Amino acid sequence: MNIALIDIGGTNIKYALSDEEGTFILQGKQPTEAFKGADAVYVNVCGIIDSMSEKAHISGIAISTAGQVDVKTGNIVYATDGIPGYTGFALKDRLKGRFKCPVSVENDVNCSALGNLWKGNMDEDTFIALTIGTGIGGAIVLDGRIFHGASGSAGEIGHMTLIKDGLPCNCGDSGCYERYASAQALEKQIIAALGDMSTKQFFNKVRSGDTKALAVFSQWIDFLTEGLKSLVHILNPPLVMIGGGITAQGALLEDAINDSLRKKIMKSFSKPLKVKLMTMGNDANLYGALYWFLKSECDY
Ligand SMILES: [Zn+2]
Repeated sequence: MNIALIDIGGTNIKYALSDEEGTFILQGKQPTEAFKGADAVYVNVCGIIDSMSEKAHISGIAISTAGQVDVKTGNIVYATDGIPGYTGFALKDRLKGRFKCPVSVENDVNCSALGNLWKGNMDEDTFIALTIGTGIGGAIVLDGRIFHGASGSAGEIGHMTLIKDGLPCNCGDSGCYERYASAQALEKQIIAALGDMSTKQFFNKVRSGDTKALAVFSQWIDFLTEGLKSLVHILNPPLVMIGGGITAQGALLEDAINDSLRKKIMKSFSKPLKVKLMTMGNDANLYGALYWFLKSECDY
């Protein structure tokens, strides 16, 4: 059975044609062209599936996508203006209608968590996953299953309040966690304190012991672990996984998070807790989409 795997991100649509074991027969990516709106993105997705179906018969379509997803209906419950018109988009129904095969749709952060669960050599099946990028995405995995919440929107960790009446957020509120602890927030903090420089240059300074850079880094880590503290105290997880491009910083980041977080949480929570960086690369979302397709009861 060949399944078309599609990961719709703000910048690129990544795709693969895979068997049920997750062996990719082909894979690639193309620009999402999100700025053109949901209908144009849908046309791009259909074009990718069309070209895959010229090479092999496709028995199903598994979608990982930005935005909050109702996994039962496959509708986009809410998406930011990153893809205009995406909120309310009936992605599953439209793909099913066009390609006449089972379709699953799941949020990309949840897919990343499931991809790691399936292919990431994990020794825990209960964990919180954070994806740190422009914002902070979250996935809550309990006993190997994503906790979806009442409308499929659970895990919007980035919009916990960190600072009351703080910086304005694109969700319409202010003081949200991701305004302080995302990679984008770090970039702004770097520029404010040190002037224009890339994240790479910044981390070189941190590694060389530059006092100003270290101060910015430890402030940002403090914001990050302030939110983690609440999450850990709510769920008492055995594992917190951190993903996103920032994980390129490796042990420097992992150690800093561990050192800061463990000072803030109660010992009974700290003892069983592991905090790790996600080791799987870009394909985690595609694997997770496939995992969800196979596990969820797709209506044929
Ligand atoms: Zn917000």
